[in-house]
Amino acid sequence: MNSFLRIFLVTISFFVMSFANIQKDKIYNVAVFKNWMPYYYVNNKQEPSGFAVDIFEEIAKDIGIKYKYTVIDNWNEFWPLVNSGKIDIIPDISTTKNRKKSLLFSNTTNTFEITIYKRATSKKLKEINDFHNKTVAVVNRNIGVSVMQKYPQIKTKVFNNRFDAFYALISGEVDGICYPRPLTNYSLRKLNLDDKIIPLNENLFEIKRAIGVISHNTELVDKINESILKIKENRRYAFIYQKWFEKEKSFEFSYEQIFYLVIIVILIMMGFVSLIIFYSIRKNWLMTEKDLTKELDLRTTKLEEANEELKKLARIDYLTNIFNRRHFFDISKQYFEIARRNNTKLCMISLDLDNFKTINDTYGHKVGDIVLIEFTKIVNLFMRKSDLFGRIGGEEFSIVLQNTSIEDSFIVCEKIRRKVENTTLKHENKTIQFTVSIGIVQLTSENTVDELLEKSDLALYQAKENGRNTIVKYDLKATDNYKNKKRQ
Ligand code: GH3
Ligand code: MG
Ligand code: MG
Repeated sequence: MNSFLRIFLVTISFFVMSFANIQKDKIYNVAVFKNWMPYYYVNNKQEPSGFAVDIFEEIAKDIGIKYKYTVIDNWNEFWPLVNSGKIDIIPDISTTKNRKKSLLFSNTTNTFEITIYKRATSKKLKEINDFHNKTVAVVNRNIGVSVMQKYPQIKTKVFNNRFDAFYALISGEVDGICYPRPLTNYSLRKLNLDDKIIPLNENLFEIKRAIGVISHNTELVDKINESILKIKENRRYAFIYQKWFEKEKSFEFSYEQIFYLVIIVILIMMGFVSLIIFYSIRKNWLMTEKDLTKELDLRTTKLEEANEELKKLARIDYLTNIFNRRHFFDISKQYFEIARRNNTKLCMISLDLDNFKTINDTYGHKVGDIVLIEFTKIVNLFMRKSDLFGRIGGEEFSIVLQNTSIEDSFIVCEKIRRKVENTTLKHENKTIQFTVSIGIVQLTSENTVDELLEKSDLALYQAKENGRNTIVKYDLKATDNYKNKKRQ
């Protein structure tokens, strides 16, 4: 019974202790550094991030603990928080003897090699001994400080952070920097200084790093160790390491790749150019078709207009806009035939402006033209639709009146004569007057228009003979007299 009780008590106390050590509901305080890339840093979203944080979160997820982060600036802040029990875990820390006094360490999660970095141009500084009597930079509270204490022949200069130390090296203020490799490589790459600042081949020291846990919680450390093994086996560790320490991919191409790239770019450009050419030519074709139709329409219209003009020119006298000689005779022949066939009356009238040469000579050819135009306007006033009026040549005109007797024709001619006589033209302050002589014949037995015209001309000449500005009706006797007179 006694032993049973003892077993019971031991079991109970074991559970109580376990409960005390790993409490599922306990929220562990986890310390992270604010600015210790790539191990710890606070990202843009104000969340702790980095290699140490990723490893810790992977383990915490695995063992199922709850936690919250306390972001700290430096080691000075860290130790008081540990000592007062405000921090339970630090995800990644160098395992020094001193620290083992207040922290329990998990199995190694990471190693640091400590070496000296120099300017790439310092060719003579090849190994640690070459730095005797030189000055090497260290960073306050960094492991480098204690490493350099082993080399009393080397002077040290302490800086507040690694960045100040880098620029002190570049500027020549110091000859080297003693600092952990992973951090230095990472920072130099980021600052684009990795071709200016290079490490020695040898390492001065190697330090192991692990997850630090407040000293009483052995149970938690065991769990963490199991989990570390697990994440190394399932390659999560490798994945996280690659994520933070992988060299950034350079975009350098080989000559062969550049050659093919250039060919591809040229081909693409040629493709584009051909496409553009193809489309512009196609557009031109389409445009040409459209334009051709338009042009054709325009030319057809112009041609039609020109044809019309030509036809008009063939019929119409350019100056007076009445029928020309040819058209006048074409039509008068038709009138002549109709009158003969139908036995209807038809008169042929010849008109000639009197002393027109004198008008030209006195006032100039231009005024002569104006007189010709004015004369046609006057005649047109007395013309009916069926009447034919044409310019035969120069200042000579002819009229054919259908269904009109010689007496009626005379009346029309007299109206014309009088109107002409009474017309006064004004040109450059000069008054111009002119007259017309007229001969009339009525169709009787004539066989051709020419015969008829000859007779009206004879009557016209007679009118001229009679002193101009007169009208003479063709009269066989009188005309014969006139002809005889002319012969004499
Ligand atoms: P008549 O009374 O005997 O008919 O005398 P006239 O001067 O009228 O006759 P003539 O035949 O001697 O002269 C005709 C003139 O008409 C000569 C010519 O220069 C002129 N003439 C012919 N055609 C035109 C023309 O289109 N415009 C002008 N201004 N003058 C013309
Ligand atoms: Mg004449
Ligand atoms: Mg005349």
